[in-house]
Amino acid sequence: MSKILGIIGGGQLGMMIAEAAKKMPGEISEIIVLDPTDNCPAAQVGTTQIIADFKDKDAIIELANKSDIITYEIESGDSDVLKSVEDKAEINPSPETLKIIQDKSLQKSFLQENNIPVPEFIEIKNIEDVRIGLKKFGMPAMLKARRDAYDGRGNFKINSEDEIQTAYDYFKGQSLLLEKFVPFTMEVSVIASRNTKGQIKTYPIVENIHQENILKETIAPARVSNNIAKKAEEIAKKTMSVLKGAGIFGIEMFVTQDENVVINEIAPRVHNSGHHTLQSSETSQFEQHLRAILGLELGSTKLIHNSVMCNILGDKSFTGEYLPPNISDSGVFLKMYGKKISKPLRKLGHVNIVGINDESTDELLEKLQSLKPKMVVKPYN
Ligand code: ATP
Ligand code: MG
Repeated sequence: MSKILGIIGGGQLGMMIAEAAKKMPGEISEIIVLDPTDNCPAAQVGTTQIIADFKDKDAIIELANKSDIITYEIESGDSDVLKSVEDKAEINPSPETLKIIQDKSLQKSFLQENNIPVPEFIEIKNIEDVRIGLKKFGMPAMLKARRDAYDGRGNFKINSEDEIQTAYDYFKGQSLLLEKFVPFTMEVSVIASRNTKGQIKTYPIVENIHQENILKETIAPARVSNNIAKKAEEIAKKTMSVLKGAGIFGIEMFVTQDENVVINEIAPRVHNSGHHTLQSSETSQFEQHLRAILGLELGSTKLIHNSVMCNILGDKSFTGEYLPPNISDSGVFLKMYGKKISKPLRKLGHVNIVGINDESTDELLEKLQSLKPKMVVKPYN
């Protein structure tokens, strides 16, 4: 029987989940999104919207009453509230899984207990703990908010003793952890899925390039040795088997100088580094997420084409309405998210450059360079 899908969060991730859901009418008959922004991206693709804050308890109860199955595009939801509505709708990934992942300290402890490699870290209760941690780990080290971080905004890199106070004050009393700095040679991720029946599949490892803590480019597949690719895949599979959540999980990792792989963090949701799968892979991460939470057989994660994804970010010099870029080229797929206002470094869209004619990664990167001047948004006057 066809189900009503509720999605908490109607940004670009919710939008692309909704678009995939529309292609599965036999499984999903209707989509309702909960998002505070009127006409959010997901509301523009034929869904019904409940306009409310992500943490609004009444709105979540309303969503649960109206939906058969609920998922989310954000990890900052209130897992206790979600737990309290589990009798009304099936929630995936489960509130228990969300609770572990949304707290970076619980998440890292959980991974450590399961012998999955993470950077060394300690919980921070006061500024003295920071000093103790720095003695243990050396400098630089990363002071991180345990919860609600995104785009690097919950991190402070401490480079010297003089910065301890500034770093501590930056977080204004939030719960913190201190993490050893990993001088990685590459940032990579594995998009992994597990369905409600326990079937697990991973996508090939990809390489991520950040700019000012925001993901800028993803290269699929990552330019790493087979050894590293194998280690990352094993770590991702093991993580999925111990976490027991259903859905897509974006597992961000560092490749270390001694050819090892450690997990940086896990996102319990579809992930920016999986956007290339829309055109490069047999099953997109969005369809796979739905297959996973609906308990369907997972689709093939085979990468059919080499691919490079580049985010279109808001220009640093203005906030306001904008003209989207105009790009059309064979093998180039522009996706804009329908956000009305551009803000500095806001994710407004992405471009997938796909090797439909068997182009090599180097050729795709060259193509990206030639398109970059066009991949900008201009103020709309
Ligand atoms: P996101 O941008 O994925 O939402 P976030 O705000 O939760 O992330 P992290 O993923 O923890 O933050 O860190 C952001 C970036 O900071 C990482 O991608 C990496 O470049 C750098 N970073 C984080 N932790 C470390 C570390 N221990 N050592 C070195 N670099 C780190
Ligand atoms: Mg991250």
